[in-house]
Amino acid sequence: MRMVQTTWHITRFPCAAPPVGGLAIRARAWALLWALALAVAGLCGPAAAQDATGSIARPSPARASAPDGASAPAPGPTLAHDARLAGDAGRTRLVVDLDRSVDIRTFTLANPYRVVVDLDNVVFTLSPEAAQMQRGLVSACRYGVLAPGKARMVLDATGPVTIDKAFILDAVDDQPARLVVDLVPTDAQTFARTSAARPAAVAPAAITPAANGDARPVIVIDPGHGGIDSGTTGYSSYTEKSIVLETGLALRDKLEKTGVYRVVMTRSTDTFIPLGERVRIARAHQAALFISLHADALARNDGRARGASVYTLSDTASDADAARLAEQENKADLIAGVDLSDESEAVAGILVDLAQRETRSFSAHFARELVQRLKNVARTHHGALKSAGFRVLRAHDVPSVLVELGYMSSKDDLKLLTSDAWRDQATDAMVAAIDEFFATKTAPTPPAAGQTARAEPAKSPN
Ligand SMILES: [Zn+2]
Repeated sequence: MRMVQTTWHITRFPCAAPPVGGLAIRARAWALLWALALAVAGLCGPAAAQDATGSIARPSPARASAPDGASAPAPGPTLAHDARLAGDAGRTRLVVDLDRSVDIRTFTLANPYRVVVDLDNVVFTLSPEAAQMQRGLVSACRYGVLAPGKARMVLDATGPVTIDKAFILDAVDDQPARLVVDLVPTDAQTFARTSAARPAAVAPAAITPAANGDARPVIVIDPGHGGIDSGTTGYSSYTEKSIVLETGLALRDKLEKTGVYRVVMTRSTDTFIPLGERVRIARAHQAALFISLHADALARNDGRARGASVYTLSDTASDADAARLAEQENKADLIAGVDLSDESEAVAGILVDLAQRETRSFSAHFARELVQRLKNVARTHHGALKSAGFRVLRAHDVPSVLVELGYMSSKDDLKLLTSDAWRDQATDAMVAAIDEFFATKTAPTPPAAGQTARAEPAKSPN
């Protein structure tokens, strides 16, 4: 069996602030070349940093079933090297320069109104300014990797729009190949009628857990965001998706080294994974533990908060901050242009009722363990144990926690989040918490008088 280990780095805009101390991001030129060659580079969203990912192969039995699309994409991606908007609110045109023709698919989505353009095997090498473009009917845009070999642009529309034209112009003489999309305004009824026939945004990949008699507990590590969804930036030139991926890969390596656990990554490259897919991966692998990694950020003038927090699932948020965070993290699919209209209310909701008591109890137990361990090595946020309605935590049979590693809006936290030393300490703490969790989960603890050993109800945090 082959596995793919990812070597990656975070690059910064040339105009960004001076380098943060202790940043040990492996910015090697060859990695960037790899990234371009393997078509997994992404540049996403307003105020997002460029993030390149490269992959090298090494043998290992453990990753046979990793569902993160780590297999090498077809060679020779098409580069999208310039993009612009023209026109006004009566007709807005998107033009993207490409180095050759590609297949495209376009469709529109409501709530909020968006235009989605999928491009086969395209890598965006646009200038940072392109991520900021807005004009006429387009209020914002994002672009990046959706899945291996698939790129996506999402245009936020100011209201209901119709795609009047969408085509590719072949290269002629000194003119590059061009993607052209013309948008015109429409009314909500027409929009609903014309946007009905759209393709599924992301076809779920088959997940075939290959335990092969391996009885070790499966731990699913879920680096948040990815690809077209950069996560937060905290007004820095870093992206949440990159910071949590590097931490997740470091945690994976340490857990695999113990030999005690089987580790599955929801993603190990800069690829978008829908929230529901992350849950599906955890359930399909019958995970014993699911750990979702994120980094928080507050508004620009509210940047004092610091430290890590650990969240479990609840139907009522433990405080206003937790509610805000869950709402923000739950927007990942919407940001990436995934069509959520097919999900019934029951599925799109949190399904807390289905979360079995024992699963919730285990989640709470691990969350407490994790906070204790993180306290020893990293600053934890005041009231670090919280709960809210995170969609990614809704597997009713998998103990699941979501870790906000720190606040990217805090300069001090950002310095930690991007340093090798902190990442090493934080992942050590996570491994210790995981060891402790499984030790107490499997060893029969003598129950205290009047209590059962482990059926402790999920304590309402804070
Ligand atoms: Zn996040």
